[in-house]
Amino acid sequence: MTILDFLFPKKCLECGRAGKYMCIDCLQKVPISPEICPICTEFSFSGKTHPRCLGAQELNGLITAWRYQGVVRKSILALKYRFASDVSDELVTKYLKVISNISKGILAPIPLNRKRQNWRGFNQSEELGKRVAQKLNLKFVPDLLIKKTSTLPQARLTKKEREKNIRGVFKINPRYQLLSAAYYLFDDVWTTGSTMKEACKTMKRNGAGKVWGMTIVR
Ligand SMILES: [Zn+2]
Ligand SMILES: [Zn+2]
Repeated sequence: MTILDFLFPKKCLECGRAGKYMCIDCLQKVPISPEICPICTEFSFSGKTHPRCLGAQELNGLITAWRYQGVVRKSILALKYRFASDVSDELVTKYLKVISNISKGILAPIPLNRKRQNWRGFNQSEELGKRVAQKLNLKFVPDLLIKKTSTLPQARLTKKEREKNIRGVFKINPRYQLLSAAYYLFDDVWTTGSTMKEACKTMKRNGAGKVWGMTIVR
């Protein structure tokens, strides 16, 4: 037991039962996300982009586990605080039991605005992505993408505004040369996907072979 166990006793973030941040009962209530094509959002086996939807610069598929609800949503919200590294450990362990196995590739998190990163203290998609990469034996490259300009937070914008707001904001870190390997672009939440799609375009224009989106929830 550490001092943190006294300050933040481990209990379910939804129902308060002691033991885990996500108890089995609450976790079972969170709907599993259906496997969807990231372009048309219709069902697609394993989340692979339909051949008819796949343009040259589009995502090759989307890996995600749950809908953004219940105890999973509470866990993701709890990650905004620095002490929540235990929460991310539990979340990632459960996440990997839901998604299908990946064995090879490079995982790159979606970068935040520098401004927002400082305010939060850390980048939670980087934190989660690092754990996912470690457990799946993927190569983790946290600084593959660079966000060029300070954009407005996407959350309050409409789908159209989001696409406009994000256009042209990513570039590839000049330290890296993209390969024909499989890349996994990681973020905690998939909402409209406009950020992920824009990052994917930048990567494919710069030589990336396959780019999959990967999120905990949508
Ligand atoms: Zn519970
Ligand atoms: Zn489709």
